[in-house]
Amino acid sequence: MEQKKFKTEVSELLHLIIHSLYSHKEIFLRELVSNASDALDKLKYLTLVDPAFKDLKFDPRIDISFTDDEKQKILVVKDNGVGMGHDDLADDLGTIARSGTKKFLKNLTEDQKKDSNLIGQFGVGFYSSFMVAEKVEVTSKKAGSEEAWKWSSTGKGSFTLEEAERDTQGTTITLYLNEEGHEYANRWTLERLIKRYSDHIAFPIYLEYDQDEYDDKGKKKGTEHKVEKVNSAAALWRRSKSELTADDYNEFYKNTSYDTEDPLLYIHTQAEGVNNYTTLFYIPAKAPFDLFNADYKPGVKLYVKRVYITDDEKELLPTYLRFVRGVIDSEDLPLNVSREILQQNRIMSNIRNASVKKILSELKKVAEQNPELYTKIAQEFNRPLKEGLYSDYANRESLLELVRFKSTDVEGYTSLAAYKERMSDDQKAIYYLAGGNEDTIRRSPLLEGYKKKGIEVLLMTDDIDDIVVPSIGTYAEMPLKAINKSGAVDELDKDESKKKKKEGKDVVKKIKKALGERVKDVVVSTRLVDAPAVVVVDDDDMSVQMQQILKSMGQTNMPESTPILEINVDSPVVKKIADSDDEAYVSDLSQVLLDQALINEGVMLKNPAEFVKRLNTLLSR
Ligand code: ADP
Ligand code: MG
Repeated sequence: MEQKKFKTEVSELLHLIIHSLYSHKEIFLRELVSNASDALDKLKYLTLVDPAFKDLKFDPRIDISFTDDEKQKILVVKDNGVGMGHDDLADDLGTIARSGTKKFLKNLTEDQKKDSNLIGQFGVGFYSSFMVAEKVEVTSKKAGSEEAWKWSSTGKGSFTLEEAERDTQGTTITLYLNEEGHEYANRWTLERLIKRYSDHIAFPIYLEYDQDEYDDKGKKKGTEHKVEKVNSAAALWRRSKSELTADDYNEFYKNTSYDTEDPLLYIHTQAEGVNNYTTLFYIPAKAPFDLFNADYKPGVKLYVKRVYITDDEKELLPTYLRFVRGVIDSEDLPLNVSREILQQNRIMSNIRNASVKKILSELKKVAEQNPELYTKIAQEFNRPLKEGLYSDYANRESLLELVRFKSTDVEGYTSLAAYKERMSDDQKAIYYLAGGNEDTIRRSPLLEGYKKKGIEVLLMTDDIDDIVVPSIGTYAEMPLKAINKSGAVDELDKDESKKKKKEGKDVVKKIKKALGERVKDVVVSTRLVDAPAVVVVDDDDMSVQMQQILKSMGQTNMPESTPILEINVDSPVVKKIADSDDEAYVSDLSQVLLDQALINEGVMLKNPAEFVKRLNTLLSR
């Protein structure tokens, strides 16, 4: 017998599951049944595409039985699926195979660890058995192999592996129930749980139990051993929409997605015609934990004629829709479709395109008819939808109606359409300010002038706004203009700006001389009210925030754009510069003027020591 230790992340996960999912401990059964179903799917697939398994007698089933003994209550979940060999047992049940999980665990805060929804959503899987069992044995024979192996563990750091007996291929999981698990050695409890969680599993689930028999006079005659099929075993998405209720959809979602919360939206499509396929998509209530991992787990499973093909194909939907969960079931694809074929397949790309259109149009419907619900969707998924603006040109028009922004004039989110609605007739552009977090942006002196004139400015607080939004160009024939670019300035007030520019001519010269190479230009501002100065960039240059973001992402060899300093000629500091003839003093004031404007935009100064020194000189004057 071999004894092996769990990888540390398994121990950590076990600990988490046992402590945070306790109130949902019954989900262990759903997890075991779904594993059995996956195993049957995999074997079914092999019998269809692999000649070695052509002659295998395949009679798929899941059997659940229990022993209701005073001393030791036992629950057994058995399948005749693909099974696991020695190495599979050691690897699949001894480590966490799923990518991203380790990172996810590391990043969880203590509070998050208590949030069962968060833990539940990445699929706690097999290990959840240890919530109800003091010992778990897994006896398995891999399809096509002669050996059987038994894996056994108490869930406390290690497991053992030894040779075993099993007649056919498949897996038997035996749970030696602990005190908290006693209730599961019961026919009614099991029946209820199977119906609740696993009714749509495509394979029959049988429950074995003993039933006492009585004669006419009510005297016990004996007991009869019964085996009863408990689930309806119909793939829900193939049933007609008219016979399905919201509850049916929601249960199916929770049953297949590991989420414990109802989805925000489901979208069921049964297409007939040139392409025959069914899709059932869900928008989850919370963004998946790995939404921003490059190696995220795709949420859509592919079936061909109800046969499970893969749950690991990222190309089924575009990347920006990676938060969508659900099923694509095609009638027309070949069963042994490989990843390469899938990615170039016409049928598949038709389904994909139609699916994207459908999802976006349903989202739009929600946005129009149920704004409250759409706000929830936007809160979770606005960021990925924005990615679509630059990656999915074909659907840009729809996406422009779906993305939401913060704004100076409304609470919460606004759409571009709503902004346009609020615009006054003589406003010539949609103004926005991007880069940095909401607090920084809201405090930007650049907003002062717009506020004074009653012009609404959109606040772009997502890290990708600075990349995405400039690429939009126009919305409904209105140009989008970043107010931290120099080009947006002039429109505010032409006459006043001319007057001020004249006034400020001399001081501009002075400051320009003092700052030299540090600035591209110094200009008189017409939009600053309180702040003495602000930095902007040339229309074609990258904003300072954008440079900052790229730097923090490790991009070092980008062209640096020098800022333009916009000064407020009415501010005391600028007046001081204008009035002074002391060159050193003018230089110090000008440098500090620029530095504080940069700091205000959230930029890290290149030479903070010098800034401090100058500040001290000025203070001690
Ligand atoms: P997941 O199902 O999300 O992969 P689990 O923890 O539920 O995670 O299971 C881990 C792995 O163990 C599965 O991916 C599968 O390879 C294997 N496994 C678990 N149960 C079975 C089973 N009944 N038959 C075959 N393989 C199984
Ligand atoms: Mg599983």
